[in-house]
Amino acid sequence: METKEGAVRSRNFIEEIIDADLAAGRHDHVLTRFPPEPNGYLHIGHAKAICLNFGLAQQYGGACNLRYDDTNPAKEDEEYVRSIEEDIHWLGFAWKNKLYASDYFEYMYECAVRLIKKGLAFVCDLSAEQIRETRGTLTEPGKESPFRSRSVEENLQLFEEMRAGRFADGEKVLRAKIDMASPNVNMRDPVIYRISHAEHHRTGSKWVIYPMYDFAHPLEDAYEGITHSICTLEFEAHRPLYDWVIENCECENVPHQYEFARLNLTRTIMSKRYLKRLVDEGVVSGWDDPRMPTISGLRRRGYTPASIRDFCERIGVAKANSEVDARLLEHCVREDLNAHAPRLMGVLRPLKLVIENYPEGRREMLAAEDLPGGETTHEVPFSRELYIEQDDFMEEAPSKKYFRLAVGKEVRLKNAYIIKCERVEKDEAGHVVKVICTYDPLSKSGDVNAGRKVKGTLHWVECQTAVPAEIRLYDYLLREDDAEGDFMERLNPNSLEVLQGFVEPEVLKARPGQQFQFLRQGYFCADAKDFSPEHVVMNQIVGLKDSFSKTLK
Ligand code: ATP
Ligand code: MG
Repeated sequence: METKEGAVRSRNFIEEIIDADLAAGRHDHVLTRFPPEPNGYLHIGHAKAICLNFGLAQQYGGACNLRYDDTNPAKEDEEYVRSIEEDIHWLGFAWKNKLYASDYFEYMYECAVRLIKKGLAFVCDLSAEQIRETRGTLTEPGKESPFRSRSVEENLQLFEEMRAGRFADGEKVLRAKIDMASPNVNMRDPVIYRISHAEHHRTGSKWVIYPMYDFAHPLEDAYEGITHSICTLEFEAHRPLYDWVIENCECENVPHQYEFARLNLTRTIMSKRYLKRLVDEGVVSGWDDPRMPTISGLRRRGYTPASIRDFCERIGVAKANSEVDARLLEHCVREDLNAHAPRLMGVLRPLKLVIENYPEGRREMLAAEDLPGGETTHEVPFSRELYIEQDDFMEEAPSKKYFRLAVGKEVRLKNAYIIKCERVEKDEAGHVVKVICTYDPLSKSGDVNAGRKVKGTLHWVECQTAVPAEIRLYDYLLREDDAEGDFMERLNPNSLEVLQGFVEPEVLKARPGQQFQFLRQGYFCADAKDFSPEHVVMNQIVGLKDSFSKTLK
């Protein structure tokens, strides 16, 4: 496997398993699946699972199914289904079959009946709480249910009545009959069917009993002929139950489950349930708020699919949980955009600058490179009145090492001339409102003084043609400190800052969603929803400074 740097990366443990399976003839092809529950939008953690499952399929010339694990009627919705498909496509992957676990409800029901007939499942009247109480602990065995000895006939009858809707939610469940003394708590007569009279997003009210994940998932995998069923580490202890279901339901295809570490990112909420709370409680503007770690949020923020795939490749696949530095994700998009994003000049916090020896009423068009050292350029207008960044000016230079503009000092304006600050104008409160300069007319590129060296080059925007822009700056949703308690109390109150700035007119050609580098400021994209030439809205993707690459060495 070649990595981006051209180094050869070692094979991960799942690739080693697949290699061995193919070499031994246990499989002659690879079929994986990505099984989201349509109860929220996908996040960057799901991107890891997508890149893994679809990536392995590509790598081995196999295929990957998209399967909705829609066995939980109350929380699922068509809106989520649509978003999931959009996100997978956007990441650059295509599924072989699109499937719904709910399409196999009849098959799963038959499998449950088969277990009952084999004396391996029983209808239990204990409440959820009683089941929990009698389950035992890690050191003590559980207690057998008093309903465990029901006859096959009675169980068949009751299970049919459960399906027919004779009972209320929670009144009865179907449990596998395995071993209440098993050292693995998951094997202590786990519940495999429950009653729920909620409306299902696809089957409506046809079913009032629903299979539990541990029963449904292996059957879905077997039904589809999945060869390698890859899930996250917390299911490791469920694997014996997975195998038990496959064996005792006498499935023709025998899939195997493998577990990898889920992705955790610093300062990032990584759970659909919590992300939904942020949406429902109006903390963010929606699932695609550019601060959200959802794929749709990252897309709107300006992340590229390539940068996310690169990130997933770099974090690798391990068998131990860990927390990845969120700055690695930023590093990946910065690297991608540095190579591809056209350069523009935008001033975020404007300060007016007047060049008093530049002829009034004159405007010239200067050439600006689209990419450093690249072949294409665009025109940028220049005239007597400009905006520069407030941060680029101080009335008095604080030290000899200050290379921005100050009274009496010279700087170069990017793509233009060398200017010198003569004096300032202030308002009544004493704030500088205008910087008065002179320019060296012979200092433009190609002219006699073009090579004259001054320390410091500033970006700028010409006032008359400047395009007013709403500029949205983002920070992490969570504060840096690792305070205990509910994540709602750890929210960063400054995760969004809105500025009114100016951008050079070239920005009017932007497509919604298009990324740019604002020279010296960072990467920005035209907001996919709110941007129009009449109302320019730019989202900050990431700054230019990379504090992460140092830690990479
Ligand atoms: P959440 O806890 O955010 O609701 P989930 O695991 O319940 O996530 P599913 O829709 O069930 O979400 O997940 C679909 C697939 O994505 C599963 O195979 C799951 O293992 C994988 N997945 C979910 N979160 C992560 C993560 N943080 N890192 C890696 N894979 C993940
Ligand atoms: Mg889940």
